[in-house]
Amino acid sequence: MRLLEEREAIVQYGRKLITSNLTTGSGGNLSIYNRAEGLVAIKPSGVDYFEMKPKDVVVVAPDGQIVEGDLQPSSEIRFHLALLRYREDINAVVHTHQVYATTIACMNWELPAVHYLVGFSGNKVPLAKYATFGSQELSDNIIAAIGNYNACLMANHGIVTVGKDFGSAFATAEELELVSRLYYQTKCIGEPAILSDKEMITIGEKFQTYGQRK
Ligand SMILES: [Zn+2]
Repeated sequence: MRLLEEREAIVQYGRKLITSNLTTGSGGNLSIYNRAEGLVAIKPSGVDYFEMKPKDVVVVAPDGQIVEGDLQPSSEIRFHLALLRYREDINAVVHTHQVYATTIACMNWELPAVHYLVGFSGNKVPLAKYATFGSQELSDNIIAAIGNYNACLMANHGIVTVGKDFGSAFATAEELELVSRLYYQTKCIGEPAILSDKEMITIGEKFQTYGQRK
């Protein structure tokens, strides 16, 4: 079986999407790119996260051709592959319908720097224009909006986060759910204070060196 490690990561992080309340049912999807092998592992379409086994994961070429797998790949395979091809620093893509981020996306708003943790994306989270799920237009809209950010809201749909690995793309999804909730709550009681772009540059620099030094 090709990409065994990546298949196991999709099963592991798929379950984490449910246990971390970032998605429900078989909603959301995730993919990971092994650049050395030139192959992508992606969640199969419509399979329950707790039923999914490593053998169910679909392995495709970056152009979408199925290399290994009996099941259909995720219905959102277009934007997954477009993101992995778009930027060399993107190896992992996580897409969810997490409730607070999706609330902001349903307002067709961007998520501004209401809290410094928006720095997991950049100085904000941009918004991709609405298009039908699974469509080429949706993929094009995400690529047009994401630029160098590590996340993008999807109008009337959800959010997509990207990273060098699942650890970082998943952490971005989790932290942005907190920031989205804070934005929603502050908007409920007034007009929140937004951090400046200059401060968000400082935050971005600090994030580079945060954590355990190796
Ligand atoms: Zn979706």
